[in-house]
Amino acid sequence: MSHYPQARFLLSVSGLDQLARALPEEGREVAVAGRSNAGKSSAINAITERRALARSSKTPGRTQLLNFFELAQGQRLVDLPGYGYAKVSAEVQAGWGQLIGGYLETRECLVGLVLIVDSRRGLSEDDHGLLAWAQVRNLPVRILLSKSDKLNRAEGQKILQQTARDLPPCATAQLFSAQARLGVEEARDALENMLAPAAGNE
Ligand code: GDP
Repeated sequence: MSHYPQARFLLSVSGLDQLARALPEEGREVAVAGRSNAGKSSAINAITERRALARSSKTPGRTQLLNFFELAQGQRLVDLPGYGYAKVSAEVQAGWGQLIGGYLETRECLVGLVLIVDSRRGLSEDDHGLLAWAQVRNLPVRILLSKSDKLNRAEGQKILQQTARDLPPCATAQLFSAQARLGVEEARDALENMLAPAAGNE
C-alpha cells in the first residue's frame, strides 16, 4: 500500500506567473532539488512509494520545468529541475537558476526543501547556493546523501560528518539509498514534519 494513496501529478510550470495563476498560495509545499543524476527521481519514488510520480517529471519536455504533485489534500511536493547538467549551455543553466531561485525566493507556501546529494560527491557549489537561499528564508532543509549503498559503513559515516560540518543551521543530513532502502523512513518522517502543520499553528 502506498504511503500516499491519493498522490497525483498536478501540473508543470515554466514560469512564476503561470504558477501563481494555476496554483494559488494555499496549503504547504516541499521542494525536492538536486544535481542531475543525483538520484532525485529514485528518492521521490522510494519515499512516496509511487513509481509513476517521479516518472511524470522525467517525461520529455518536463525535465526543465517545476513539476507539482499533490501528496494529500493541501500537501504538495515540487520536483525542481536538476541542475548542473554539463551538456546544456550556460544560458539554459542561467534560465534554470532564475526559475528555481525565483520560486525559492517568492513562493510563500514553500515550507521546506529536500536536497538530494550523491554521497560519493558531497555538496557542490550549486548545492551550497541552494542552502544559502534556504537559510535566508529560514526554511528547513533535509539533505539526503544518496546512493549510500555504494559506500561502506566507515565511508558513509565520514561523508555524513563532513557534510554536517559545512551546513547552515537550517539544514540536516542523513544517509539514503533508494536502491537498498536505507534511510527511507527517516526521510519520509522529515518530509512529513515539514508538510504537516504543527498542532496549533493553523
Ligand atoms: P535524477 O536524475 O536525480 O532524478 O536521478 P535518478 O533517480 O534518475 O538516478 C540516476 C542514476 O542513479 C540512475 O542510474 C539510478 O539507477 C541511480 N541510482 C539512483 N538511486 C540509487 C541508489 O540508491 N543506489 C544506487 N546504487 N544507484 C542509484
